[in-house]
Amino acid sequence: MKLHTDPKCGFGLITLSSLLGVLAVLFPAAEQVTRADDPAVTVLQQTETHRWYKGNMHTHSHWSDGDDYLEMIALWYEQHGYQFLVFTDHNTLADQERWIEVEKSKGGKKAYDKLIKQYPDWVESRTVDGKLQVRLRRFDEVAKRFNKTEKYLLIQGEEITDILGKRTPIHLNVTNLKELIIPRGGKTVAETIQNNVNAAMIQRQQTGQPMLIHLNHPNFYYAITAEDLMRVVGDRFFEVYNGHPYVHNSGDEIHPSTERLWDIILTKRIAEFDLPMMYGIATDDGHNYHHIPSRESEPGRGWVTVLAEKLEPGTLIEALEAGSFYASSGVRLKKILSGPKQLHIEIDPVPGETYTIEFIGTRTGYDKSSYPVLDKQGKPIRTTRIYSKEIGEVFETVKGNCATYHFRGDEIYVRARVTSSEKHPNPSEPGDFKMAWVQPVLLKKRRELERKPITCEGSYPHHLQGVDVDENSIYWSFTTQLVKTDWDGKVLKKIPVPGHHGDLCVRNGRVYVAVNLGKFNDPQGNADSRVYVYDAQNLSLITKHDVQEVFYGAGGIGFYKDHFYVIGGLPDEIDENYVYEYDGDFHFVKKHVIESGHTHLGIQTAAFTKGRWWFGCYGSPKTLLVSDSKFHLLGRYKFDCSLGIACSNTGQLYCAQDHYGKEKGHTGSIHPVTPDENDGLKFLEPE
Ligand SMILES: [Zn+2]
Ligand SMILES: [Zn+2]
Repeated sequence: MKLHTDPKCGFGLITLSSLLGVLAVLFPAAEQVTRADDPAVTVLQQTETHRWYKGNMHTHSHWSDGDDYLEMIALWYEQHGYQFLVFTDHNTLADQERWIEVEKSKGGKKAYDKLIKQYPDWVESRTVDGKLQVRLRRFDEVAKRFNKTEKYLLIQGEEITDILGKRTPIHLNVTNLKELIIPRGGKTVAETIQNNVNAAMIQRQQTGQPMLIHLNHPNFYYAITAEDLMRVVGDRFFEVYNGHPYVHNSGDEIHPSTERLWDIILTKRIAEFDLPMMYGIATDDGHNYHHIPSRESEPGRGWVTVLAEKLEPGTLIEALEAGSFYASSGVRLKKILSGPKQLHIEIDPVPGETYTIEFIGTRTGYDKSSYPVLDKQGKPIRTTRIYSKEIGEVFETVKGNCATYHFRGDEIYVRARVTSSEKHPNPSEPGDFKMAWVQPVLLKKRRELERKPITCEGSYPHHLQGVDVDENSIYWSFTTQLVKTDWDGKVLKKIPVPGHHGDLCVRNGRVYVAVNLGKFNDPQGNADSRVYVYDAQNLSLITKHDVQEVFYGAGGIGFYKDHFYVIGGLPDEIDENYVYEYDGDFHFVKKHVIESGHTHLGIQTAAFTKGRWWFGCYGSPKTLLVSDSKFHLLGRYKFDCSLGIACSNTGQLYCAQDHYGKEKGHTGSIHPVTPDENDGLKFLEPE
């Protein structure tokens, strides 16, 4: 472990030109900062298009066991600099007519008087049998009153509050759900978590509504061990910090801290189970709103700060899922840069505070052994097993307002923790300092996985038309067959479909395929353009949309900022291409023109990533068109991605290929590619 002061942080008074000089000397990797198109570099920093949004994703109210009204809680967070707030009452949505007796409510007369004082014309009360009652305002009423575009957003959530036996609470929050989820139960802790996660995932798939699930306070009653959580599929978030005073974030002699749980889970999931990593979030879990600060569970203790393009539930969830956020209990960050060689973070410092930045992770070749914690009789205690110190090692400690960790190359992941010299003003546990948690960056394993081409199992009568990927699966359109495989290419589901099924894209558990049932490339436009929508889980057909605006035949589809973009055929004589924009419900919005010159049979495939559109076209040689988000052409290259282009949620781009054998028919594969200045894209070599 190294301890040093980072010299690069003292440039507060340096002018811009000298700063650039200083940076060039002190920060030789700085050119990577400006290479926004380098897929290996991710920069989280406020820009013209992206903002930091502060939010709390765990809140209780009078709808369950909180002691205040939704509108008063919404007001508290709005007045304390938050941009979003998720209401997560226990097994309840605030969507019904509900009256409560004021005296019997958690907040009692005091909360009621405050409510009346704040909103004299809004409160509905009545007297029944001599008892004063008040109507709890529904979520939609409160949201309508408070939501302001780009300023403040309330989101409906639920704390699925399950219990195993009498003393093992298993709580999961679902953000932005559509329908109440009744706790599913289970025979073990792991099974109970999984059953509830599945319920949320199914709702997300069936409704198409963006939803986020996270596991709450693992150390509440020390209910959840690392082993319980490490194999869960579909939940990629847990509370590394919860502000409730009873949740034991820092553990005790026999129970590891939530951070230790995180490192064990990360190491096992990434290195041993091939599961996606888990992100750590911070929340309040507020119940008590009338004595702040005190030792109750109060607002303002922990939050997430999300870098996103707009303040909207789907966009925030997408950003969270991409790891575009940090968790905090008081420290603000300005910038997080992760590249192939380093993790760099910059703090937004408070005058008078100093900061300790620790880079934490596990190296390949770590000691995989573990053993149980035993009681005095030698019997195993139900707690997380004891793992090697090589898991979650502190690689480097830096004092300062910024720090760069240069990867040695054998790290499985690296995350960072920032601790202020200043105590938390209203801590979860007495003595807590203000902190921030930077999400883990995956190294070796991810690079290895993502540099591997993947071949789709089986062969097919017609050629490949398009591909897309999600966290667990790859979707392939072979003109008359739709195929779903895992990331090893093993077929999970295969269905016959009407020709011509073209390129596809996957969003929120649904597969959208551009389909033409008529003629392609006909100057008279005798196409019959549709978008077929399938359930990503089992490829069952959910619905079909008419997209007849796509005049020369729908052949490809992409997604950007809540809207779908359909592309397709082109007659010979036309020297430009067209992109047809639809909203999320497939209402036609606009026809865009790309001044691309003619491409043979139009555009076949599309994907938006790295701030630009990537379009695959036929021709000889095959053509790649690159445009900005407004379809201004940025480049036309000789590169073949005409049979599919896709981007993983970690930012890796793939191009598809088709191989034809007379006896066998068509087989498909995807190959990792990276943007290239000269050729548009280039294939990545396996390491
Ligand atoms: Zn809870
Ligand atoms: Zn709670």
